Amino acid sequence: MKLKTELLVVGAGPGGTATAISAVKKGGKVLILDRKTNVGVPVQCGEAIGKTGPGIAEIEIPENSIVNPIRGFRIYSPNLTKVDYAKSEPDGYIVDRRIFDKELLAKACEKGAEALVGANVTELLYKNEQIKGVTARRFGEKIEIEAEVVIGADGVNSTIAKLSGLRKNIKLKDIESCAQYEMVNVQIEDIDLLEFYLGKNVSPRGYVWVFPKSENRANIGLGIGGGQGEKTALEYLQEFIKHNPRGKEICKNAKAIEFRVGALPMGGPNPKNVLDNLILVGDAAGQVHPITGGGMGYAIVCGSIAGEVAVEAITEEDTSEEALTLYEAQWRQKYGKEFEQMLNLQQLLTEAEDTLLDKLAQTLSGQNVVELTAGKKIGIFLKAAAKHDKQLINLLNQLRHLQLVQ
Ligand SMILES: Cc1cc2nc3c(=O)[nH]c(=O)nc-3n(C[C@H](O)[C@H](O)[C@H](O)COP(=O)(O)OP(=O)(O)OC[C@H]3O[C@@H](n4cnc5c(N)ncnc54)[C@H](O)[C@@H]3O)c2cc1C
Repeated sequence: MKLKTELLVVGAGPGGTATAISAVKKGGKVLILDRKTNVGVPVQCGEAIGKTGPGIAEIEIPENSIVNPIRGFRIYSPNLTKVDYAKSEPDGYIVDRRIFDKELLAKACEKGAEALVGANVTELLYKNEQIKGVTARRFGEKIEIEAEVVIGADGVNSTIAKLSGLRKNIKLKDIESCAQYEMVNVQIEDIDLLEFYLGKNVSPRGYVWVFPKSENRANIGLGIGGGQGEKTALEYLQEFIKHNPRGKEICKNAKAIEFRVGALPMGGPNPKNVLDNLILVGDAAGQVHPITGGGMGYAIVCGSIAGEVAVEAITEEDTSEEALTLYEAQWRQKYGKEFEQMLNLQQLLTEAEDTLLDKLAQTLSGQNVVELTAGKKIGIFLKAAAKHDKQLINLLNQLRHLQLVQ
């Protein structure tokens, strides 16, 4: 079978559907395809999303995907000292990705995009040495799809990134391996706070998350940095549930009703995400927060920029790398500095001793961290609190050097 479209989006995750929605809003002719026959399944996500990303992209979080409103988070340091960052109103949600992904695909199609599920892209199509579409296999049939611009929104193992040469492989150290249970009968302390647990023995270069879905149900998972630690992600997760004093307490009667593994690109964005007639977005572009591993919001914002830029380029009949570089410039202007700072902070945190994280948590515990960070007073506060503690003063200087505090 042969098909033709203007804009071809490979992958119907948050990045691909946001691209498709913004492109059809601009009047583009869009085909979005996904190798899954049921998008959003299996869920490989903690399912936490802030309001900011969808707000910037003017994409509504589907009402029926919202499971639980969230107003902040609680960090547990290695010795289980708590630090809260809790706003008075919800600024995010736990969503059901099964519904979330499918509803965004539905939205794109309601607005005019065409969709092809069950289509696995295997090759890029070339004409006169220029990318001109893709080849996919769907229920045993080969499909050739011609397009003016191809968007690779096909996730962490992006076939489009590999085939185009924009990201051949992710280095082991830049991959986060994740394991997650959805559990019931969890003793949840605050239903509207995400919980994060730090520590080299808890989750090296990562954290355990407990994301509440209801009074007694939560996604409990973790990610560990590639090459870090001595156990697998699953072993660390089981260790937390069975042996960590707090994990053991909240999971005393807990039962797993789902188990998933997954991976994340944690090494920051690819150096380059555009070629003639081709753009990468979301996990395929490495647009994932290097500390939290959150990627849905970035994928949505960057996808919506990609959709607009691509339609503009198609309309102007110039889909060259030079024209599409506007996408790269626009998303980097929004997030480039943040990614750079967070990568530096990731390294700092990876190297930090557990005792330093405990000291920092003891200093901040009980403080109004929302107010301290919003008013940029955190540097002054930490300086006063550090007094003559060399370890804390050194950390403060490093944070200042990274322009993370004033
Ligand atoms: C365990 C885990 C927990 C996470 N928790 C959170 C969280 O709580 N909050 C958050 O913001 N982020 C979280 N993330 C990250 C988040 O899931 C991703 O950053 C986000 O889904 C990226 O969106 P995307 O559209 O780029 O890619 P994806 O959501 O991965 O979508 C890619 C799509 O492309 C399709 N595809 C892949 N290859 C092909 C192909 N060859 N042909 C056709 N289709 C293809 C896939 O089927 C998929 O539907 C987590 C990730 C993991 C692994």
